[in-house]
Amino acid sequence: MDKTLTIDFRARDQRFMRAAGDVLKRYRIDRLEQADPGDPVRFRIRGGRREYTVTVDPRWASKPACTCPDAAQLGGLQNAGYCKHIIAVLIREKALQFQLLEILL
Ligand SMILES: [Zn+2]
Repeated sequence: MDKTLTIDFRARDQRFMRAAGDVLKRYRIDRLEQADPGDPVRFRIRGGRREYTVTVDPRWASKPACTCPDAAQLGGLQNAGYCKHIIAVLIREKALQFQLLEILL
C-alpha cells in the first residue's frame, strides 16, 4: 500500500480562494483599533451568528491567528495554518498582503 501523502495543491488553493472570496462578500470585517502602530492588528469577522477574531502582526514576527475552529484544526498542516478568515483579511488589507506569501511557499 502506498503510504505517501499526496496533496492536490491546485484543488486546495482553489477551494481556499473560493472560501476566502465568500468571506469577503458575505462577512463583515471590521479592523479594531490599535493602541500602538506596532501592535498586532485585530479584525472582527462577523457572518450570521458567528464571530471570530483574526490577529495579524504587521511586522510578521508571528503568524496570523484566528479564533475559529478551522484555524485550530488545520494547525499548520494546510495553508500554513491560515483559515479562510485570515486569508480574506490578508487579501483585503493591502499593507498586510505580503503575509499571504507563507501559503505560496
Ligand atoms: Zn478563521
